[in-house]
Amino acid sequence: MSVWDQVVDQEEVVGQLILAAEDVALARRNQSSAAFTQTWLITGPPGSGRSTAARAFAAAIQCSDLGCGTCLTCKQVLANKHQDVVVIRPSGLTISVEESRDVIEKAYLEPSIGAWQIFIIEDADRLTVPAANALLKVLEEPPSHTFFMLCAPSSEDVLATIKSRCRQVNLRLPRAAEVARLLMERDGVEPQLATFVSRAALGHVGVAKALAQDPIARQRRQLTLQIPLNLDSLPACFVQAQELLDSINAYVEEQQDDLDEVEQSQLLNSFGAGTEGVKKGRVDFLARGAMGDLKDDQKSRRTRTTRDFLDRSLQDLLGFYRDILFVQLGVPVDLINEELRVPIEKLAKKATPTATRKALDAIQESRSAVQASANPLLVLESLLIDLARAA
Ligand SMILES: [Zn+2]
Repeated sequence: MSVWDQVVDQEEVVGQLILAAEDVALARRNQSSAAFTQTWLITGPPGSGRSTAARAFAAAIQCSDLGCGTCLTCKQVLANKHQDVVVIRPSGLTISVEESRDVIEKAYLEPSIGAWQIFIIEDADRLTVPAANALLKVLEEPPSHTFFMLCAPSSEDVLATIKSRCRQVNLRLPRAAEVARLLMERDGVEPQLATFVSRAALGHVGVAKALAQDPIARQRRQLTLQIPLNLDSLPACFVQAQELLDSINAYVEEQQDDLDEVEQSQLLNSFGAGTEGVKKGRVDFLARGAMGDLKDDQKSRRTRTTRDFLDRSLQDLLGFYRDILFVQLGVPVDLINEELRVPIEKLAKKATPTATRKALDAIQESRSAVQASANPLLVLESLLIDLARAA
């Protein structure tokens, strides 16, 4: 067992990171000036396991046994509970300059237990330009005990000045069979379900796991894949768009409501709510500024979560039309949606490969539009009208 077990199907990158962790250990043992890299950019498409790789690497650096996976240090790092491994993850849509300054301040402090202090910035592509600029100096010359691991989809997603200060490793999307193996071995998912969800998730480990564990997510996927079969009129396009978005919104509401409530009551408690002799009105008055900020963050988190789920559905549609195209072209591959082969073959006969390619382009454009903050309902409606035309 080792910390690398969770990093699925990435032999090449894992090899590089193991060597890098060995360099760090060597430098520490010899007290020599052996060179090692302190600033890393871990790239790879969503689902390739960027933050999992970063955490494994951090554990390998902190562990006295290069990431054994069994010691307390390894377990704490992997569970995000190690004092000297700080994970920065945007709560809203972006990482602000204030958050960057906070990181910089902490980066100069001594590690509290081990020899190294590590900062993992998940979604470094969400650093605002001022936030990214604020980090440049510390990335250029990090304190001798500090590491930075920035994660982003690709190096184009971060400022060139950030990229040039980091050593980059690039993850690939793991193969479905490898994802299925992980789900079976790690999470005890039944083989049949593991195979189905890994195929459906197109190699995205987190999505595959969510699909395996969450029947509602599987239902929404089913609902999404019914859409192309039901676009027989203009009104149908509008109805289908609304239904999909309603189901996403309901799901996001349900997930976020509890979380919002817990965060809000934690905030009020920190202002003395529930303490004897402290009046509620006074707490509300004192907490009002912080509460306003928290509610803004929560609102932007909802927006982001909704967009992410919508993107997931758009990817499901992408897989569906890819299947149609492969059938039309007679490419002998396993379909992503093998269980829908009959309707897929039917749709494949009705349309031409050119029309299917147009449908695929339209879905990709919708994904970009959603990421660029376009109104989700309008994007979906216009997409479904395009898809109806392509059929
Ligand atoms: Zn260990």
